[in-house]
Amino acid sequence: MRGQNPIRPPETGDGSLLQVKKIFPTLQGEGPFVGQPSVFIRLGGCNLNCYFCDTNFEDYTPVALSQLMQDVRELSVNKEDRRIRHLVVITGGEPMRQNIVPLCEQLLAEGFHVQIETNGTLFRPLPEEVSIVCSPKNSGNGYFPIREDLLPLIQAFKFIVTPHDENYSFVPEVGQTAYRIPVYVQPMDEYDMWLNAENLNYVTELAIKEGYIMSIQTHKLLGIE
Ligand code: SF4
Repeated sequence: MRGQNPIRPPETGDGSLLQVKKIFPTLQGEGPFVGQPSVFIRLGGCNLNCYFCDTNFEDYTPVALSQLMQDVRELSVNKEDRRIRHLVVITGGEPMRQNIVPLCEQLLAEGFHVQIETNGTLFRPLPEEVSIVCSPKNSGNGYFPIREDLLPLIQAFKFIVTPHDENYSFVPEVGQTAYRIPVYVQPMDEYDMWLNAENLNYVTELAIKEGYIMSIQTHKLLGIE
């Protein structure tokens, strides 16, 4: 994708129909829930277009909420019909672009743990049981502010870091201190073996020096989605 996506504004639906790129079983590859068996719901479209974006979330199709829930149920069980994936990750694109409140409510009602991955610029009144992981982004002219109404609900910040871009070479203060939110740092994937090796060293040193939590994109090491 590499930042080629069109910028798409928030949708105004009631959440009964969502723009879905893909739903699939996998292991959560990064952040606080790394390694957990999960069902990923990748929603279509994003309200930003970061140049380093590593995800294809366009070419989505509308899917009814009832169908989506049925897909999650089927993908969360093994062949003996026993639930083996208890975590549902709703990502994108930017999942807060769409009304995911009913989806979250239904997933929680069926006993799933729900994690959202968001860039922090949009808000939906999600149930408080939802785990929100926020990865702030830089406009090129400073970091986009994190929504004030979202800040108290965020469980972790995940900053993408590289020494090769001054906009992403540091961890900015976006509210993590005031709200005591844990900070993860993750090397930017620049699709270049040598640049990525430098990023890994740089971020490791940063994590040790500043006391941040290291996040590696383990799904890329494992060759899974
Ligand atoms: S906010 Fe995330 S999904 Fe959206 S363009 Fe940036 S990296 Fe990609």
